[in-house]
This record gives sequence, structure tokens and C-alpha cells, in this order.
Amino acid sequence: MEALAIPDARERLRQGVDALVDESIDDVSTHALGKDLTDIRRCIDRLEAEFVRRLHRFDRAHGAQADGGVSTVSWLRRCGMTVKAAAYRVHLARTLGELPATLDSARAGRASFSNATMIAHLAEDVGVEQVRPFESILVGAAETLNPGAMRTLTQATRLRLDPDGVLADDNRAHERRWFECEQTYGGVFVLRGELDAEGGALVKTAIDTLAHGMSRGETRSGSQRRADALVDLAATQLRSGDHRDVHGQRPHLTVTVGADTLRSGADVQVAEMGGVGPIHPETARRIACDAVRTMVTLAPPVGDAPSTVGSTPALPLSVGRATRTIPAHIRTALHLRDQGCRFPGCDRPEAWTDGHHIVHWADGGPTELENLVSLCRPHHRRVHEQGWSIHIADGVAVVEPPP
Ligand SMILES: [Zn+2]
Ligand SMILES: [Zn+2]
Repeated sequence: MEALAIPDARERLRQGVDALVDESIDDVSTHALGKDLTDIRRCIDRLEAEFVRRLHRFDRAHGAQADGGVSTVSWLRRCGMTVKAAAYRVHLARTLGELPATLDSARAGRASFSNATMIAHLAEDVGVEQVRPFESILVGAAETLNPGAMRTLTQATRLRLDPDGVLADDNRAHERRWFECEQTYGGVFVLRGELDAEGGALVKTAIDTLAHGMSRGETRSGSQRRADALVDLAATQLRSGDHRDVHGQRPHLTVTVGADTLRSGADVQVAEMGGVGPIHPETARRIACDAVRTMVTLAPPVGDAPSTVGSTPALPLSVGRATRTIPAHIRTALHLRDQGCRFPGCDRPEAWTDGHHIVHWADGGPTELENLVSLCRPHHRRVHEQGWSIHIADGVAVVEPPP
């Protein structure tokens, strides 16, 4: 009997889908399209649930093996599924098949399929027997709650039923944490990693707070803003954080560069950043704008022109005292005057700014307020590496793109 009824239902379903895909939608209003979308999605959900019901029975009766297959998962590839998608369905079938009230609700279209799968995941975590007494309450919730609220409910239920399991999962996630920050051959750093829920939320909150749309006329993408925020986080930590000294100094970045290289218009010579390698002289000029400077005089190599740091090993004749290129009192005055980045349209706060010498100190520019302007890192880059010019006219910063 059933063998006759099922092909008939399938035939009608196929005809219905055929009619749907043949329909012209060119003149359909968006309002009607919206109704279509909810209707179609609901049908897909119900069909997913029905698929799971049949799969449960097929799997239990070893239908795959009877058909010459090795396992239900491998057999499902005939449905055009990847192994991952097939394994997920089989997993669901084995749990949802034991929770008929949940499956019925999804098949009838009362609960969305995704809400029903959340009950299945809960049952997987704590065991079907543990969930069974609450199944009707959970189904009632699945029929009324949105997915976010449903997730919260199943998570809270899991915590009630299986606090030790939740703790063990948390500990496992914590143990699995990892992070890598690797430099590629091209010099770029690639960051990869995995954090537990709390650690990840902390990092995300910190980055989102810093990346939050700080300036008008913002040209950076959200992703670029988050990348800048991560760098700001590191810079702020190194600048103001409490660190144990390493080799008698606070941890910092070191740039080694010949005094000539810092002058504008000089021949392109190598500057080096510790832990990074050679960097462009303009990057060295930007970093040198606002840094701690130590002048080292080197002995010229015998019978040769004065050497550049980084190439020929040269003996230091004298090492000067470490001084800030912008002394503390001038920095304070600069912060009071600028109160953040002065690039037009930018309102990033002073804590994220460098002091930029309009005429570089290496070119004889004085470290005086008139020759200084606060710029955040992306805007400081824009002025150095990206060739924008900046000057102050009547107390207003005027910028111009490169010619
Ligand atoms: Zn600068
Ligand atoms: Zn800025």
C-alpha cells in the first residue's frame, strides 16, 4: 500500500517544485517575493525533517548495506552530499529519530528545522534519556522562540542537566587554545589561532572597541579597522603597560638606520627593524619621527668609505644617551593643543597618536610645537609611506594627496 502512496506523493511534490521553478518572477513585487521566501524556506525545513525521519528508518534497517553500500554515510553520496553533510544528517537522524515529538513538530512546520536540531544537539550532549522528560517543554519553546533565544535555552538546559560536561567542554576548549603570528617570506605577518569562548570574547570586545568607527569620511574597511585596532592594542600596551625589563630595557621595536638614510632625498639605503628585517627608509623616517633615539658613531672600516649599519660589521666608537625625539614636556603641550589625530576628519584620541615632524628632524626640522602635529598610525603612514603632504595653516591641518 505504502509503496503506492509514496511515489504518488513524491510525484506531486516534484510537479509542485517544477511549477515553482517555471514561474516568472520578473514582475513579482518584493512584498510577494518576501512571502515566497518564507514559504519556500518553511517547505525546505519541513522536507529536511521528513528526510531525517526516513533516513532514521533506513539507517536502522541497514538499508545502505542491503543496497550494496558500506555505510549510510557513504550511501548518501548518491544524494549528491559531501561526506560531511551526509555524516551530519545521519547524526541528526540517530538522535531526532529517538525524539518523535521534536521531529513531528519540525515535519509539521511548527518548529523550524534549526530549532529542532538544537534539541538534537542537546540530546547528543547529555543523552536522549535525560532530555525525554523535558521534550514537550523544549518542543513548545522551539515552536515559539527565535534561533538566538532557543540557543540560550538549550545551553541553559545543558548547564542544568550536565554541569560537569559543560565544564569539561570548557576546559577542553581552553586546552585547545593556540595562536601563531608568523612572518611570511614577503615580510607580512599572518595571524592564526583559536581561543576559548571567554578569551575570544575579551579579544573581540577590545578590538571592536578600538575599531569602532572613529572618524568621519572613513576610508578603511571594517576589516582594516580591526587590523589597525590590534596593532594599536599592542602599541598602547608596550607604551604604557607594566613590563618587566628585557636586557635592562622595556620591550620595544628597534630600528637601526644610518643617519644619512633618514634625510629626505638620500639614496635608498637599508634600514633594519629588529625581528622584521630590512624596511623602507620612509618607514624608518616615520618611526623615527616619534621615538627613543640612540646615536651610535661607528668606526669607518679600514680603507673604505664610512659604513652603513647592517652591512659591514663596524665597531661603535661611541654610544650616546637614549633620548626621546619629542621630549616629554613638548609631547604634553602637543597633546594639549591637538587632543588627538589632526588629520582632517579623524577623531582618534591622543593615546593612539604619534608626534609627526612636519619638517623631519633628520632634515634639520626643529622639535617645536610649530613643526609638530599629532597623527594616528594610519594617518601617519599616509603622510610618510603614501606620500600625502601636511601643513598647518591658521591652526588648521591641511592635507594634500600625492601629486
Ligand atoms: Zn612623521
Ligand atoms: Zn587619524
